[in-house]
Amino acid sequence: SQQIQFADDMQEFTKFPTKTGRRSLSRSISQSSTDSYSSAASYTDSSDDEVSPREKQQTNSKGSSNFCVKNIKQAEFGRREIEIAEQDMSALISLRKRAQGEKPLAGAKIVGCTHITAQTAVSLILVWAVCDLCMALGSCVRVFVELAKQERALPSPANSKDAPVLSGVAVFAWKGESEDDFWWCIDRCVNVDGWQANMILDDGGDLTHWVYKKYPSVFKKIRGIVEESVTGVHRLYQLSKAGKLCVPAMNVNDSVTKQKFDNLYCCRESILDGLKRTTDVMFGGKQVVVCGYGEVGKGCCAALKALGAIVYVTEIDPICALQACMDGFRVVKLSEVIRQVDVVITCTGNKNVVTREHLDRMKNSCIVCNMGHSNTEIDVTSLRTPELTWERVRSQVDHVIWPDGKRVVLLAEGRLLNLSCSTVPTFVLSITATTQALALIELYNAPEGRYKQDVYLLPKKMDEYVASLHLPSFDAHLTELTDDQAKYLGLNKNGPFKPNYY
Ligand code: NAD
Repeated sequence: SQQIQFADDMQEFTKFPTKTGRRSLSRSISQSSTDSYSSAASYTDSSDDEVSPREKQQTNSKGSSNFCVKNIKQAEFGRREIEIAEQDMSALISLRKRAQGEKPLAGAKIVGCTHITAQTAVSLILVWAVCDLCMALGSCVRVFVELAKQERALPSPANSKDAPVLSGVAVFAWKGESEDDFWWCIDRCVNVDGWQANMILDDGGDLTHWVYKKYPSVFKKIRGIVEESVTGVHRLYQLSKAGKLCVPAMNVNDSVTKQKFDNLYCCRESILDGLKRTTDVMFGGKQVVVCGYGEVGKGCCAALKALGAIVYVTEIDPICALQACMDGFRVVKLSEVIRQVDVVITCTGNKNVVTREHLDRMKNSCIVCNMGHSNTEIDVTSLRTPELTWERVRSQVDHVIWPDGKRVVLLAEGRLLNLSCSTVPTFVLSITATTQALALIELYNAPEGRYKQDVYLLPKKMDEYVASLHLPSFDAHLTELTDDQAKYLGLNKNGPFKPNYY
């Protein structure tokens, strides 16, 4: 069997290029630690809600009480959810099998903060399986609080958060955590008697922030930080710029494989799901305008076109505009089509792309939603005026009614449609989780001096490795370079096959 090359000495590691060198830093599905994808709970047991998990005495089947979840008795149910998730996370499973022998994280003590779902549980179990020592996993489920507020009810795993507990990972997480609970959970993971982390696995930067603020001495032992979200990565660059970053950090958010999946393929799948679940709209023949033809916009347009919608695109960048033309879309100004379109979708990462003026001019029953940045793209605040009536017609669906009776259908109050109203495909999460695991392994095993106190992108070769682990799911057969061809292209036969900027 193929050996995993966890470290490649020849690889030239890229630091994140300067801001001017990149088009956009905001390219993650995770806008912030409170605005990210996750699964809401399907399980509710009102008796559980009466007592805060913090007050409960619970012990798992291994006799450990070093965790805090809503109800450990649900762990087996959660395990079944994990088994379902594993079916579309075969790359992670194969990485687990390959790494189990080598134990590339032997001795690692990882403290982490992430959303706990069946999919992240698969990832936690992988990391645990390749660590030799016990690990404390702090678990941010702030997103659950947000989702609960939105009365979201989708079929999805809640109890999977209990299952990793049985596997030996100390999880502190439950649905409906308050802000105070959230920080308490983090603290319980960092401040452990007789145990100190040497790696940080963060998603949102809150854990890193907590350690900096409350336990800076912990950094003496930390070998590195792996950060998942755009917000967390942004904070790390700020720390680095201020000369305050005292350990190397890996920016997983901007790795190519993750980017493509989060932005292009994930949105291609979830735009229709989100719109259908909320509005039951039929797309054939509908006129849709998609604002922004970046990765997210391209995904949305492709899906809509495939269902027979007439798609218009707005762009500010001539290159992306030309790409839209080549793909067969009419490039227009929003004001030119706003009166006639049935659906408006924003995907720009920008603010106030849809203004009150646009909203005033929309036709009756026009659907408006956002797939881009947090909640800035549609000027929803401008709709909170006395002459407009808001009517909640379904969870995540508001009718905003003008005095003449015209209605605009606003989805998720302008927040991300797919994160609020649909689910994220497990396969996409498998890519992210595999990337995270490899980033941990890389940072943990890197020889002294390879990484300085700065923020790094995952080496290209590892990105390629993540992709290659996912190929068997499709029975895809990769062509190998001949020696002659490799020489001709000036490449190593084993990669990396593209420059870091690709
Ligand atoms: P991108 O930079 O590739 O694309 C954005 C495009 O919008 C660019 O081509 C830009 O020129 C264009 N644009 C900017 N302002 C505009 C305006 N006023 N009118 C028309 N076009 C405009 O970025 P991306 O990867 O497509 O991501 C877009 C946003 O979506 C980001 O905020 C990102 O964080 C978010 N995102 C969402 C999801 C999701 O699941 N919904 C997933 C990934 C990323």
